[in-house]
Amino acid sequence: MKILKPKSENEIQDIIKDAVNAATPTIVRVIGSNHSWSRAIFDAKDIPKTTNVKFISLTNLRGVEKFEPTSEQTATVTVWAGTNIGKDPRDKDSTLENSLTYQLDQHGYSLPDTGGISHQTVGGFLSTGSAGGSLVHSIDEAVIGIRLIDGTGTIHDLTEKDNDKFLAAGVSMGLLGIITKVTFKLQKKFYITGIQTISPIKPLSRDINVGCPIDFFGIGDKDQGIPSISEFFSNNRDYDTDYSRILWWPQDGLDRVSIWKAKKISDNNGPIDHFKQPSIFIQFFGKVILAFLNVIEFPGKIYNKIAAFLLKNFSEIGVEYFQDRWWNGLPMDNDICDQILPVAFTELWISFDKTKDVMNKLQELFTNEPKSVGNFITEIYTAKKSRFWLSPAYERDVIRIDPFYFLGNLRGTPEDHFRFYWNALKEYNFRCHWGKYTPDEYGNEVPGLFSKYENWMAIRQEMDPHQIFVTPYWRSRLTIPNIN
Ligand SMILES: Cc1cc2nc3c(=O)[nH]c(=O)nc-3n(C[C@H](O)[C@H](O)[C@H](O)COP(=O)(O)OP(=O)(O)OC[C@H]3O[C@@H](n4cnc5c(N)ncnc54)[C@H](O)[C@@H]3O)c2cc1C
Repeated sequence: MKILKPKSENEIQDIIKDAVNAATPTIVRVIGSNHSWSRAIFDAKDIPKTTNVKFISLTNLRGVEKFEPTSEQTATVTVWAGTNIGKDPRDKDSTLENSLTYQLDQHGYSLPDTGGISHQTVGGFLSTGSAGGSLVHSIDEAVIGIRLIDGTGTIHDLTEKDNDKFLAAGVSMGLLGIITKVTFKLQKKFYITGIQTISPIKPLSRDINVGCPIDFFGIGDKDQGIPSISEFFSNNRDYDTDYSRILWWPQDGLDRVSIWKAKKISDNNGPIDHFKQPSIFIQFFGKVILAFLNVIEFPGKIYNKIAAFLLKNFSEIGVEYFQDRWWNGLPMDNDICDQILPVAFTELWISFDKTKDVMNKLQELFTNEPKSVGNFITEIYTAKKSRFWLSPAYERDVIRIDPFYFLGNLRGTPEDHFRFYWNALKEYNFRCHWGKYTPDEYGNEVPGLFSKYENWMAIRQEMDPHQIFVTPYWRSRLTIPNIN
């Protein structure tokens, strides 16, 4: 399909007006860096043959438009929405020099956080409510302005003062309009210093060769100085977890966890030592192992034993220290190659106060349903509460459960694997990450999960009265009534 690459806001307005006036039903969708589940952007399989699609990329609308220091410590930046947060290796026009984070750092400033990768565009990252792993820092708190062209071709400059439309647009999946520019408030640039440990998940021990320095399932062990997982994430006793994330290898006989954590420091007091991901060669080896594990029969516990034996190579018990510039260190997974290890995700955001129960539920799932373990990992991290109405962290801090599904698997589907998690964690009223897989029945839950759902729907209808941004996927997930 031809992708339109407008060079100005006027061209976007023309595309929208053409779609509204077209004789044949026409929808308009934007693609950022294409890191979301295809259906969340636009998937031709979802679209009736009688509907035309105008598919837009903002690749010609990238770059910093305006940078303004506001004090010794602060500044604001207005950036075109097609700008990548960091360099996207899949896009030949994306460079380190034209990425947002690098340019901010060159000016001496920073965003509060990044995701685990920074390849996304500014527009795409915001639109799905994406977030880095932190209960302390959040990117969406830094957003102070959103410029958007709505479904009538009208331009809106939304700021915190506009309140409702701003809060509705902050996470809107391209369903209110096309975001062309975003303004962020900035803070001084910083560094991070951190450590990753890989250990068994049980028993508890401060010695990672023996056991786990975090209590995943209980209330911690004060005598040994071991925090519960909630205490660890919320950094309530200085566990140096300004930023953190955990990967759990739940295969029977392996049961390892990799705990990555970093604290913010204003000055770099040592050499830059970038966090090291497995080499490309090891990633390729990992791909072969994952594919092999997927094709062999699934005899439950025996399968898990084989998986544990092979996967041990990728989760060796040990410690790695790192110290880095914020923009290069926070996206700790940038060096994992999407082409070698393509992954699908579903991500369930659950109220943070349920963390211990959720961990125990996962443990129960892995024990009772060996197939739910699969051949890969589950990521566990957090997000700080958000003011944006449709953010899955709206008004509550969350624990995020993010099972990985290797897309090189020859048997099964991501949905088959994710179904275990959707069923097991249903009782916790999870909200889904909008850029990742969601279950078909999610549309029935959404109105009850977001207290501002009706307000968001009213603003959506006002800003896109002809429904030119609505795909069948989004109609089903948000219960958007059909106007035809
Ligand atoms: C390897 C990997 C790691 C990831 N890590 C994280 C993580 O750490 N934290 C996290 O929260 N998520 C993470 N994600 C998910 C990712 O952040 C989201 O999928 C994000 O939306 C991708 O941004 P994008 O630029 O690729 O946008 P796309 O995926 O291309 O688009 C996302 C949505 O935004 C819409 N959109 C894009 N641009 C605009 C615009 N200018 N105006 C209006 N609508 C627009 C699209 O139509 C679509 O609905 C990860 C994904 C992958 C594949």
